Amino acid sequence: MSEKMDNLQEKLRKLEALFLQKLPSRFDEITGALGQYLHNPQDKESLTALHRHLHTMAGSAGTFGFEDLGVQARVFESRLKPLLSGTEWSQTELEDYARDIRDYFAAALNNLNKEHAPGDIASADAGEAALPGNQSRLIYLVNQDCRQNQEITTQLEHFGYETVSVEQSKNLALAVARRRPDVIVIDMGSVEDGTGGVEEIKKVEQLQRLRIPTIFISKSSSFDSRLMAVHAKGDGYFTKPVDVVELTERIDTILQRDETKGYRILIVDDDVVTANYYGAILRNAGMIVQLLNEPSRILSVMTDFRPELLLLDVYMPLCSGIELSQLIRQDNSYVDVPIVFLSSEADPQKQLEAVRAGADDFITKPVAPDYLVSSLATRAERYRSLRALIMRDGLTGLYNHTAIKEHLAAEILQAHRNATPLALAMIDLDYFKQVNDQHGHAAGDHVLRMLARLLRQRLRRTDIVGRYGGEEFAVIFPNTDASTARKVLDQVRIAFAKILQHSENREFSSTFSAGIAGLELSGDVDTLFDAADAAMYVSKQSGRNCITIA
Ligand code: GH3
Ligand code: MG
Ligand code: MG
Repeated sequence: MSEKMDNLQEKLRKLEALFLQKLPSRFDEITGALGQYLHNPQDKESLTALHRHLHTMAGSAGTFGFEDLGVQARVFESRLKPLLSGTEWSQTELEDYARDIRDYFAAALNNLNKEHAPGDIASADAGEAALPGNQSRLIYLVNQDCRQNQEITTQLEHFGYETVSVEQSKNLALAVARRRPDVIVIDMGSVEDGTGGVEEIKKVEQLQRLRIPTIFISKSSSFDSRLMAVHAKGDGYFTKPVDVVELTERIDTILQRDETKGYRILIVDDDVVTANYYGAILRNAGMIVQLLNEPSRILSVMTDFRPELLLLDVYMPLCSGIELSQLIRQDNSYVDVPIVFLSSEADPQKQLEAVRAGADDFITKPVAPDYLVSSLATRAERYRSLRALIMRDGLTGLYNHTAIKEHLAAEILQAHRNATPLALAMIDLDYFKQVNDQHGHAAGDHVLRMLARLLRQRLRRTDIVGRYGGEEFAVIFPNTDASTARKVLDQVRIAFAKILQHSENREFSSTFSAGIAGLELSGDVDTLFDAADAAMYVSKQSGRNCITIA
């Protein structure tokens, strides 16, 4: 049975490779037909060809796991429909369409080349490669209330979201076809006073196959109205007037949801083919998988990859899986990382031995892919949330004092190893005692969370953000010198000062001061913190709301 599956996997892989190989020429077909049609809009044959190429692309791309490509091709296809049935486009419409297609396929080709570069498949980190960078995320706001639009737009933009207002819901489909947003926020009106509801929901339902997360806004807080939004698979429901801070928070959560699913799994198996097979199953389920065929490299792989679960083979030359798990458990940092054995060993005595050596579970080969995925996901999830409790600050979700110090120690080692720069920033809110006194402790907490979110969003994924103490934050900028770190943090400082904070019915704004220390000052964790802290006090003395380099 397992051999059969290997065959299947092999075939699928070959097919996928073939599909990839042919993609560039398929893109050429599409842009070629488009070019011909642009050249002569009376030429219905090139229009039909364009439509056919897009249609084929829409159907095949999804099958081979290129979902976004499939969906976009489908959207381009459906935009052509009116033309095919005789409607004329203006020159601008035509040009817009051509530009959208060319831009999209050029970008897609570029991404595919990056993601599927030939090379080390065994350690290819599909999950990471697919993660978006720090580019701004697009939100469509479908709402006729201009004043509220303005308020939402301004706040979202402070958080690095690009917000586009779509005045009427009938324009939504077109807007989505032009550029796919990351989230749609839509005012569904109210069923009770007949200003909308059903119609709006229908529009969204049409868009649902694109699977764009959608948040509904409504005047009504009735059960019926909420239920309607649930049926439309809404990802959130807010009654008016909308609390923009909470809306931002929801959008953050939605967009992070996809990113956090990728559990990091390390598979150790001396048999490359088996490891590849299980690796393919787990990657297919969205996990980030690293394969290791030589147990002797385990510790360095653990440090670099930081797996959230280990899947070990029992029989390996040099060192058995059981010995390997004992070795891992000897290290204090890994006493709680889940270890699961995957083996054809059915002897209960042997299994017991594995559990005694610190294994959490024992799965017998062959195993159904679904079962494997779900049992590993459960354990990895539990580990992740436990770690989060231990390492994270409850109010802001950032790394806590202990965690940020541990991270700094590790990053300093890394920087020395690679001879790369590193900068540490200390951030302290200005006159925060007054904020509490004038607006209440709850408003103060809100400001802290707001800054935490802004830091996480505006900084690179590799920058490490922590709450160092009460109203103090720390940021580690790996591979960055102090003056670059200052430039980046200065943008956050400016954005933060512009954010309107709310308390009860008053609005106010808040600022912070910061100090930055570069690694060249000291390689010692505490000394580096002290240097950044001292620089921060210089900022306080020079009038606050500014940044000083130590
Ligand atoms: P400076 O500009 O000099 O930094 O003035 P400051 O008022 O910010 O500094 P100070 O250190 O005197 O006060 C810090 C305040 O931060 C006091 C404390 O009540 C408040 N604070 C600390 N932790 C929290 C928290 O978790 N929530 C809230 N709301 N306030 C906090
Ligand atoms: Mg302070
Ligand atoms: Mg302060």
